[in-house]
Amino acid sequence: MRSSPGSHTSSEPEALKAGDVTGIAFNIQRFSIEDGPGIRTTVFMKGCPLRCKWCHNPEGLTLKPELMWFDVRCIGARDCIDACPKDALRLTPEGLIIDRGRCDVCGLCQEACPAGAIEVVGKEYTARQAFDEVKRDDVFYKNSGGGVTVSGGEPTMQPRFVAELLALCREAGFHTALDTCGYSSKEALVRLLELSDMVLLDLKTMDEGLHREITGVELGPIQDNARLISSSGKPLWVRTPVIPGYTNSEENIREISVFIRDELASAERYDLLSFNNTCGSKYRRLDLVWELEGEPLLTSAEMGLLARAAGDTGVHNVQWSGATRSK
Ligand code: SF4
Ligand code: SF4
Repeated sequence: MRSSPGSHTSSEPEALKAGDVTGIAFNIQRFSIEDGPGIRTTVFMKGCPLRCKWCHNPEGLTLKPELMWFDVRCIGARDCIDACPKDALRLTPEGLIIDRGRCDVCGLCQEACPAGAIEVVGKEYTARQAFDEVKRDDVFYKNSGGGVTVSGGEPTMQPRFVAELLALCREAGFHTALDTCGYSSKEALVRLLELSDMVLLDLKTMDEGLHREITGVELGPIQDNARLISSSGKPLWVRTPVIPGYTNSEENIREISVFIRDELASAERYDLLSFNNTCGSKYRRLDLVWELEGEPLLTSAEMGLLARAAGDTGVHNVQWSGATRSK
């Protein structure tokens, strides 16, 4: 186990004006159509207590900014090395080596690189600054029934910032969605639920041992929080990433479906999200190893069978989406 849901740390100081609380996000994605109804802007917060083996957003795992090096953009100019005051960079025939123990993520190498081959991922925003970004698409939210989704990483790890941002969105009349892995302190979740019009919740498996193996944390707190979300009456969309060898058995999907059917009365929809194998380059840019490198996509027939298995339990509104291979 990596941490308990109550042990999330936050550097958010207590005595700031509304809108001044800071948080670290790694992306603010406009025109998203996968993170709730309508056209949305999704704010991806840094930091996650889970370590899912398939995670497609490795740049969202830690709470702090990090360096990413893009090998395909590098022209070998060495300006980054000259700019680094910590002597943390070395260019070798294998590529740029970042001494992440020395690097304090000052960003000088990013500024110096003429090819844009180094990026600091993770930027500090005040809630007001993040709000100013998301409100640019106000007109799309109104016309499409969309709004703002706060995702991650895990947004409940920066609860004061997310609460401020959601409150500003609410004031502006934007629909708000919280996208969570469910592994959160109850206090943070309750606070953010009050400010969210709906919740997207990932459930990966109902098998305690498998859950620990594939995510690094226990399942029980997530089930408890799922029940808490449902008891709030907020519309809930449950999602399962369908990962070959881990979550793609009919038995697994049936067990999750039965839990939704029997215990999550506010669930409006159950989404099966097919495995996506395009994130290996992100891991390499962060000097991380991705265990699922080279794993083929699932087929549409497999996804269809799993959706049928879910529907057969009586759970409502099962949908599947994502990339598949033909055979
Ligand atoms: S919960 Fe989501 S962000 Fe966190 S490790 Fe799992 S897949 Fe990644
Ligand atoms: S972010 Fe700063 S310390 Fe880190 S490698 Fe770049 S220049 Fe050096």
